[in-house]
Amino acid sequence: MEKKKILVTGGAGFLGSHLCKRLLDDGHEVVCLDNFFTGNKDNVIELMSNPRFELLRHDVTFPIYLEVNQIYNLACPASPIHYQFDPVQTTKTSVHGAINMLGLAKRTKARILQASTSEVYGDPQVHPQTEDYWGHVNPIGFRSCYDEGKRCAETLFFDYYRQNQLDIRVVRIFNTYGPNMHPNDGRVVSNFIVQALKNEDITIYGDGSQTRSFQYVDDLIEGMVRMMNQDGFIGPVNLGNPHEFTIKELAERVLHLIPESKSKIIYKPLPEDDPLQRQPDITLAKTKLDGWDPKIQLEEGLARTIGYFREYFEKDEKKVASC
Ligand code: NAD
Ligand code: UDP
Repeated sequence: MEKKKILVTGGAGFLGSHLCKRLLDDGHEVVCLDNFFTGNKDNVIELMSNPRFELLRHDVTFPIYLEVNQIYNLACPASPIHYQFDPVQTTKTSVHGAINMLGLAKRTKARILQASTSEVYGDPQVHPQTEDYWGHVNPIGFRSCYDEGKRCAETLFFDYYRQNQLDIRVVRIFNTYGPNMHPNDGRVVSNFIVQALKNEDITIYGDGSQTRSFQYVDDLIEGMVRMMNQDGFIGPVNLGNPHEFTIKELAERVLHLIPESKSKIIYKPLPEDDPLQRQPDITLAKTKLDGWDPKIQLEEGLARTIGYFREYFEKDEKKVASC
């Protein structure tokens, strides 16, 4: 495979750090750009000794001049507590960030991939969700800064494609989990695992009957890299694991895999506009991306993620003990 210089925005975050590692393993040069809002250097510390890796502190809402062959645009807080912390900045990150990265792609003639989201479907009335579904999104709610920001970024990508013949790719990512998630990230998989390991109450919002389909990070990264390197197909394409679970089932599975936990399940109010169900139709991805299909199912993915968090807290305890 031809070696490339690749920019990953949001590269120090959960998904970005896995993507940087994969691209280095494939022999490419990687520029990881991040403002460290939700990401951190620890996620990429093992990559720093690689001479093909470069870390830049930069905010995508400002332009940047680099010479690259490919751009993966991941910069954007992804968990509701983080994207709702400063909603105006969230929209700016998606929209101004897309404009700046598309401008960079235009100048350098780089191929550019947008990390879009299943949230563009909102609280879907079509189930499972196919790429031709236009969605059911509240434009003025608490989740809108994220959902509408990502929808506008998709619009920009397709307008740059039509107007400037940019070489774009768009993937719509469904709930993804795995090592390097922030322990206080607020997303459901990390929340339940951290709560169970710390013997804290497991917080189910609502009655736990809402559903999500959980994809292990390695499957997503494989899909993203295939999509970036696929000729003649720009998307949008769903990348997710179609196995659907209720949030209550997820809590029970986490507790089953951490048998020593003394945590109890408690119920809290359901946040506003929380989608009731979500499941990707991945027929298009399977067809267009050489039979791509998620391989790691929930039990195994949860076990790996639990292993990561156990180690994370053990290291933390040692740090505290040595202070
Ligand atoms: P994350 O919060 O761990 O990573 C986002 C990264 O972007 C962080 O490192 C953060 O510091 C950085 N960032 C935020 N604003 C920035 C800015 N203005 N300039 C530069 N860097 C900035 O989240 P993640 O789960 O790794 O998500 C990565 C991307 O994938 C996001 O665009 C997200 O919308 C998308 N996505 C993720 C999921 C998922 O389930 N993990 C699902 C759908 C879409
Ligand atoms: N959720 C929950 N307890 C938590 C965190 C989340 O019950 O501690 C629920 C949340 O209300 C939603 C689902 O889990 O219905 C997935 O939430 P997450 O924030 O992970 O992803 P998203 O809602 O963006 O799909």
